[in-house]
This record gives sequence, structure tokens and C-alpha cells, in this order.
Amino acid sequence: MKKLILFLFLTGSCWCWSFDLDRYQYLFTYDQVVDKLDRYLVKDDAIQEDLGLYEDRLEVGEYTLYFGDRGVVDSFKKPVGLEGARIALDPGHIGGEYAVMERRSMGKFCEGDLNYWTARVLKGMLEEAGAEVFVTRSGLGQGAIESAWEDLCGDLRARGDLINQFDPHLTICIHYNAHRGPNGLMTEDNFNLAFVPGAFIGGELDHPEWQLDFLRLLVTDQIEQSILLSHCVMEAMVEGTGVGLIDRNEPTSYLERACIFIDEGVYARNLALTRRVESPICYGESLLMTNTDEFDRLSERDTCFEGMWIPSRVCDVAKSYFEGIKHYLNCSAD
Ligand SMILES: [Zn+2]
Repeated sequence: MKKLILFLFLTGSCWCWSFDLDRYQYLFTYDQVVDKLDRYLVKDDAIQEDLGLYEDRLEVGEYTLYFGDRGVVDSFKKPVGLEGARIALDPGHIGGEYAVMERRSMGKFCEGDLNYWTARVLKGMLEEAGAEVFVTRSGLGQGAIESAWEDLCGDLRARGDLINQFDPHLTICIHYNAHRGPNGLMTEDNFNLAFVPGAFIGGELDHPEWQLDFLRLLVTDQIEQSILLSHCVMEAMVEGTGVGLIDRNEPTSYLERACIFIDEGVYARNLALTRRVESPICYGESLLMTNTDEFDRLSERDTCFEGMWIPSRVCDVAKSYFEGIKHYLNCSAD
């Protein structure tokens, strides 16, 4: 059997991790695999053509997973409580001077900056409670690599690699959502939702690296843990922001096209980071920046945090993530 070792070269220095598929050979039954494929991983018929499903094995591109009868699933190890927990935060986008070019500017503010401020506030809360926190970028207008704007794909890869290198117990990707109203940009709608890994569509298994990611998601309980984490975060987000979860029937093109409904407010979606990050992950899309009232709240830089004037509304969001993470880790300490 092949030993699968993936080497990664990052900005001149070399580091590697290994996902050892051999560890998972002959463990899972045919029914277990089919159930998980249907429930979380396969979004459309096109992806079915990339999978070779037989009585005794599943072929995914270059790789083969053989079925067995032990039905064993390893569970991700997580600490009880925040003390000693390693938590990675990825404030999405770049913001700052790049906000207009990356089409995330709302005029008075931009998503990349909100994401960054939220991560900074959340980092402070988590560290105060004893967690070790890694944030993928270090300022407004910055990505994870020097020339992030010139190489957005490389920036996303670097974020994922840096997170995996940190080896977190859990990862939070922080985003604010936008959604056009019927008469232009602003809307009366407002909602929260979160993405977890899964929902592969046609063409998304073309690369050996993606095939291995797909198999990792199939054989570990990363998806199940991500769902649990995202449930906890969404529950806290509704309470902390006073804004509900997205209506399952909301006519949103990406939910229809690219997502699998898991449960209220939680959807599987194959994004660069939900696929690449190797820990339980909650990819949060909080609030609608295009909601009329929310726009006003997010425009108001009424709080001073570590020398930065930021909207107090991002503190509501950061506190919600904090409470959700705490709940996930089964921590009751304040
Ligand atoms: Zn975003």
C-alpha cells in the first residue's frame, strides 16, 4: 500500500505534514462510506463520475480506500475548556487599501476590516481565558503573504498551510455577509449562517491534493466536529447579535448551487479553507452588511480597542464567537 506523504513548499522554507490514508484502510463499511458521501460530501451528479464506488473500495482519483467491517471512527481530540486550547482565526479578505479592488467595500467600511477587528477582539477574549491563538494576518490591508493582492489563491493556500502548521484544536473563519435587496444594494433582510466542509461539485476532485482532502474529510470526524462547533457558534450568534439564522428557503444562489443543507443555519460548502484546514472549522458569515440598520451599526466606530476605533457591533460578533467556542469546548468558566 502506498504511504501518502504530502510535501509542501512555502515561501522558500519547507515543511510537510502527512495524512496517512493507510491508517484508515479496512476500517469503514460500505454503508458507512455511502452514508457519509450522501449526507455531507457529494453535492451533484458530476462529482459522482469522479468517484469509483465498488463493493469493496472507493476510488478517488489516484487513491483507493478499502472497506472493512470494524466501523471505527477516530475522534478529534479537544481540550475541555479554553485553558490550553489552540485556536486559529482567519479574518477573511485583505481590507484596507485593497477593499475596493477586492469588491468588499461598503463605502463607510469594508468587510476585510470588520473581519480583522473581530478577530483581534476575539483573540483578546480567548487569550484572557487561557487559549493560545493564531491569527492568519496581522493588519488592515494585509493578507497572509506579502503580495496577497497579486496572488489571492496563493494567499488562501498560505492561510490554510499556516493554520495547519499551528495544529489548532479548532479554526474560525470570520466573514460578514452581503446580500442584495430587490431594489439594489440595501435590504431589510438580516441573518447569520455558517459553512462546514463538504459539498464537492464537478471538477473539484481534479487535483490529487483535493482528492486527498476529500478522503481526509471522509475518514475523520472533522465534518461532524465542525457541525457541532458551528451549531454552538450559531446559537451564540443569534443570542449575541439579536439576528436570526438564514431561512432555509431564502433564495440565495450559492446555497442552491454549491451547498448541502445540514441543519438550520449550517451548510456544507467546499471552500478553499473548509477543504484545506485540517481541524474542526466554523466558517462564519455573520449579519448582512447590506441590511439598512446593520449598515448604520457597522459604520459607527464608537469603541476604542487597543488604540483602534472600531464599531462596537463587531464586539457583539466577537463575543458570540467566544461564547460559541466556549460552549463547544464544554467550558463554563467566565
Ligand atoms: Zn467574506
